[in-house]
Amino acid sequence: MQVVEEVNKLDQRDRALEEIAAKLGVRAERGKRFAELTSLRVGGAIDWVISPDTEAQAAAIVHELKQAGIGWRPLGSGSNVLADDGDHHYVVLSLSNMKGVVQIDGDLVSVSAGYSLPRLCIDVARAGLSGIEGLGGIPGTVGGALWMNAGAYGHEIGTVTETVRVAREGKVIEVPGSTIQWNYRHTSFAEGELLLGATIRLKPDDPERIKSRMDDAKSRRLATQPHGSRSAGCFFKNAPASTIGTGKMIDEMGMKGQRRGSAIVSPVHANFIVTEGENARAEDALALAEEIRERVKKEQGIELEYEVELWKASNEPQTHTDDTDQSREEGT
Ligand SMILES: Cc1cc2nc3c(=O)[nH]c(=O)nc-3n(C[C@H](O)[C@H](O)[C@H](O)COP(=O)(O)OP(=O)(O)OC[C@H]3O[C@@H](n4cnc5c(N)ncnc54)[C@H](O)[C@@H]3O)c2cc1C
Repeated sequence: MQVVEEVNKLDQRDRALEEIAAKLGVRAERGKRFAELTSLRVGGAIDWVISPDTEAQAAAIVHELKQAGIGWRPLGSGSNVLADDGDHHYVVLSLSNMKGVVQIDGDLVSVSAGYSLPRLCIDVARAGLSGIEGLGGIPGTVGGALWMNAGAYGHEIGTVTETVRVAREGKVIEVPGSTIQWNYRHTSFAEGELLLGATIRLKPDDPERIKSRMDDAKSRRLATQPHGSRSAGCFFKNAPASTIGTGKMIDEMGMKGQRRGSAIVSPVHANFIVTEGENARAEDALALAEEIRERVKKEQGIELEYEVELWKASNEPQTHTDDTDQSREEGT
């Protein structure tokens, strides 16, 4: 009986979703898997993937989804997400098509959330604007970078963010960057908040000097991190209680190269878990990550916190019937 009710509920949701997509002229697809949409190349089936092209469209969609009580999650390039192998019965709002056009006005740069962060770094460097050249090697979209407060080599996106455009009640609303808490790989944006774009303030500098600093950051990255592998960057945050970085800590425990099925602790950087093979499984990556956490806890007394976001099929996103803020859990 319960199964029949569940199927009816999903049928109803599917019809509502098809209507919303048709009304707003947005692409809605079935049959996609997280393995196609994330850089770790693992993860199970997704009920629906909706891909808006513009900020206005994205704002309208989430409003309609909220009104209809349909659960959704935003995804950029999927370079910081480990989705499990189960069937994910919710909507993924894929934002990598929402690129827009970068607008430069003096030292202010406006960009949409779906725009590539590495591309933006190149654009502004060419325009003689400095402040994000350290971020040039971070894969992903601007929206993902804002959500995580992405950072590297002395630069963090939050420190240059003047305003963020968010979706509220179907509209594009601008909020000052100063009202957001930009912490280490974590921000105070509320669960269910969709980031549409941002205006960042940079500093004029010589394009050649900016490029050289960006090249320097990239070569340091190439020398210390695996490239061409399927990873999600650093799996764990650095622990405040430790004087050394998490990668070094895992390396010193002799775990480089350790394998669990299709997942391996990178031999190049021990805080990177990489996956191999066509049928790689999220459960292998997760089991390996948990093995690392247990050993670090036992041997160092330190509780490692995930930097990568863990998306569990059993943990469906909350449905919000309005656009009010919900507090967001720390970490995952
Ligand atoms: C090789 C490699 C190196 C990396 N190096 C670094 C590094 O040096 N520094 C660093 O900080 N990170 C690093 N990362 C991690 C990752 O690239 C960044 O966190 C990046 O900013 C994520 O962007 P994304 O578009 O892929 O986000 P996703 O992985 O798609 O999403 C990440 C989170 O952001 C949310 N999100 C995405 N877009 C939106 C939106 N528009 N509105 C609301 N929420 C949104 C998602 O729901 C999810 O919770 C690295 C990753 C890889 C693979």
